[in-house]
Amino acid sequence: MLEKSLSWIRPVIKEIQAYHVADASGLIKLDAMENPYQLADELKAKLQRRLSAAELNRYPDPSVSSLRNKLRDVMHVPQDKSIVLGNGSDELIQMLAMAVADKGVTLMSFDPGFVMYRMIADFVGINYVGVPLGEDFSLDMGAIRKSIQENQPAIIFIAYPNNPSANCYDEKEIEEIISIAPGMVVLDEAYHPFAQTSFMSRLTAYDNLLVMRTVSKMGLAGLRLGLLCGHPEIINEIDKIRLPYNINVLTQIAAEFVLDNVKELDQQAKLIRDERERLLKTMNAIPELEVFPSKANFILFRVLDNAGNNTKNRNANDVFESIKRSGVLIKNMKADTGLLRNCLRVTVGTPGENQAFVDALLKAVNN
Ligand code: PMP
Repeated sequence: MLEKSLSWIRPVIKEIQAYHVADASGLIKLDAMENPYQLADELKAKLQRRLSAAELNRYPDPSVSSLRNKLRDVMHVPQDKSIVLGNGSDELIQMLAMAVADKGVTLMSFDPGFVMYRMIADFVGINYVGVPLGEDFSLDMGAIRKSIQENQPAIIFIAYPNNPSANCYDEKEIEEIISIAPGMVVLDEAYHPFAQTSFMSRLTAYDNLLVMRTVSKMGLAGLRLGLLCGHPEIINEIDKIRLPYNINVLTQIAAEFVLDNVKELDQQAKLIRDERERLLKTMNAIPELEVFPSKANFILFRVLDNAGNNTKNRNANDVFESIKRSGVLIKNMKADTGLLRNCLRVTVGTPGENQAFVDALLKAVNN
């Protein structure tokens, strides 16, 4: 019977490697682009009082209008644009893909990029085209123009800054993509608090542009809340796919409360940006590494096997394992070839966590 049941699962699903979340128990966690800071104790106590008043026996407010209005203010969404909320921006990517899913439809992005675009295209049974980025992770406009022409993508996802490379693409090139796209272009601004540059105000200039944000990297990853902003007629269609009550009551209360105190998160983002600059400087001084510029809260770096005084053969897997043995979990991009060859990715943490990482890194490369 099991065989029979499994035979119904689509081959494309069987082939998918499930999104792997590493076990971080006992380790300093610098693998998932989380904000390392908690709310101040005083705010936490106030939040707890608000949460204890939640009516858990009732379904949450289905319109989520109060939280949506607050997000509109805090994120400067233009007044004539609409917003749909998701259980994290991952769910919004899924809703977008489901809205266009039909035979022969293509979802486009750039590789290396955020893995969920490809995975969700597979989940809903549409084609994924990942146009390769250039050596410095910039957009290859020649290849992009050609691919848009050939594949006529329904949706193009542009992570801005990109994950895992942490850079922001050239604005003029993005504008060209929005202009020549035959369908929707989603600017995924998950790392906006660290990049401080945005396409939000340009929503007024382009009807096919959608801007996606999340509260995850701002310091509320546990709440699972993302938003998609754009032309009311497009958002209205995407909203039909949203499952009722997808934003639970605790998330609604907590997000509203924190957004009323958003200065706290802004200060944390500033600390993280300053730490990023400090970490970039420290890492750039290590000859065994090639460190890529970052506009996000993480840094991509390549372990060079032929640099420094040490002639030992180093590879990213050994360096990753050694850093882990020192008690710090980062992300191994696990690539032997291509743009991410021998690359690792570290999330910017607190000054103490970053120092522990730098110590572990130096130990690993000098081993
Ligand atoms: N977009 C990008 C570019 C990301 O890197 C991530 C998470 N790593 C997401 C979206 C998903 O964020 P969320 O927590 O809102 O689902």
